[in-house]
Amino acid sequence: MGPVLNALVELQSIENRLRVVKAKLARCRRNVIIQENLVRSLQNALEAKKEEILLTKVQSDRLELELKTRDEEIAKLRARLNTAKTNKEYASILTSLNTTKADNSKVETQILELLKDIEADEAECEKIQNQIDDQKQKLEQTRKDTEALATKYQAEIVEIQTEWDSKAKEIPAEPLQIFKRVAETYDGEALAAIQNQEGKIEAYTCGGCFMNIATECVNLLMTKDDIIRCANCTRILVLASAQRE
Ligand SMILES: [Zn+2]
Repeated sequence: MGPVLNALVELQSIENRLRVVKAKLARCRRNVIIQENLVRSLQNALEAKKEEILLTKVQSDRLELELKTRDEEIAKLRARLNTAKTNKEYASILTSLNTTKADNSKVETQILELLKDIEADEAECEKIQNQIDDQKQKLEQTRKDTEALATKYQAEIVEIQTEWDSKAKEIPAEPLQIFKRVAETYDGEALAAIQNQEGKIEAYTCGGCFMNIATECVNLLMTKDDIIRCANCTRILVLASAQRE
């Protein structure tokens, strides 16, 4: 290994630190998003409940109106009862009167049921509203905590990125491109150290995918500064620190 591979090894270590801090930043931002979603879903539940109350009110208003019409009908039937000329007419009006009264009492029961529903839904609304208030407070606190943390992480990222950029300048364009590409594929892991299987002097494997590596690759890495990639996973192969000494 020569200056290029050694610089890549150093770049990998900087890349690892950069990814760690970036992951921390993403995680702390995700906390805010999770809590925002919680508030939103509670607000949606509240809206749905309010909509439900509105519909129930429309329904009960309609029944109230129906009740009023029937009450008028009852008054009319009562008046007709007094002016009935024959027993037959009287009996017929009385039947209508009783039917209407019975219907009315059914409607009254329905209205009472609906009012009970509305009351229950309003209590539910209040409960949800309290949950929203609590959750919003939590969210505000999380936002404040996150802002402070995010500022810290962003500063760290800028610092490590500067380090990364300056190290990258030591590496020729082509190997640097390969490094970037493989890093994208393996979540930052562009390099794989060659591992020496225990007890076997000349049995080597890729530290990234554990496939066998030919001894000649190891010999090449010991003598040259070439980019050799694992035939299986395409990671850039380097000697493990013990092999380099
Ligand atoms: Zn491999």
